Amino acid sequence: MALHPLTAGELLDAASACRGRSAAEKGVYLAALGMPGQSFGDCATLPIGARDAAIVALRRTMFGERIELSAKCPRCEARLDVETTSDALLAIQAEAPARLQEIAIDGERFAVRPADSADLTAIGWIPDMEEARAELARRCLVPLAGAEVPPWLEEAEIEAVAAAMAEIDPAGDPFVALHCPECELEWDAPVDIAGVLAGEIEGAADALLDEIHLLAQAYHWSEDAILALGQERRRAYLARLQQ
Ligand SMILES: [Zn+2]
Repeated sequence: MALHPLTAGELLDAASACRGRSAAEKGVYLAALGMPGQSFGDCATLPIGARDAAIVALRRTMFGERIELSAKCPRCEARLDVETTSDALLAIQAEAPARLQEIAIDGERFAVRPADSADLTAIGWIPDMEEARAELARRCLVPLAGAEVPPWLEEAEIEAVAAAMAEIDPAGDPFVALHCPECELEWDAPVDIAGVLAGEIEGAADALLDEIHLLAQAYHWSEDAILALGQERRRAYLARLQQ
């Protein structure tokens, strides 16, 4: 099935579905919209890089190539508006090698698999970032030759697993290089593309609800009838109401 921009009705449904969901849930939901024919279950087990590529592809059909982000400088707290593109984010995904990495811990061999949305949901309740990072590393270890995943990992082992995960799924943590004009700090800021698209969908849905509200009030048409008009005709009637 071909990917198409969401219809007005689908946009309202998507905005309702995203509100109040966790970041991982939004990611799975939007990836499923970006991969027609795939179930939520399929999308929950995609590596984060592949999941986010589906979200970028969906976003491009709705909001175009340019992606505007805002960030806060971690040193001086200045606000920055930054811009990236769908192409730039999809290029990171295109580099991703498919092979699993192998590492040794305490003489036992493990494969490292990429993190998926189920992993992010599982660690989402852990308030401490360091503990969450350690648990994510443990979850992504796949024992080879009968080894058991150790109950806890040393800091160096967590870093080795994280480095292997970044190798096999570089788009799993896509980032943009930022430079603060106030204090000259340079850092790499992660891009939460699911959060960006969910915010844009909610904004567009709010604007659409305003249009529906004004037309329903003036003409007493149903929501379905107003949605069926299409954007151009809705705008034409709204313009007449303001004359
Ligand atoms: Zn700064």
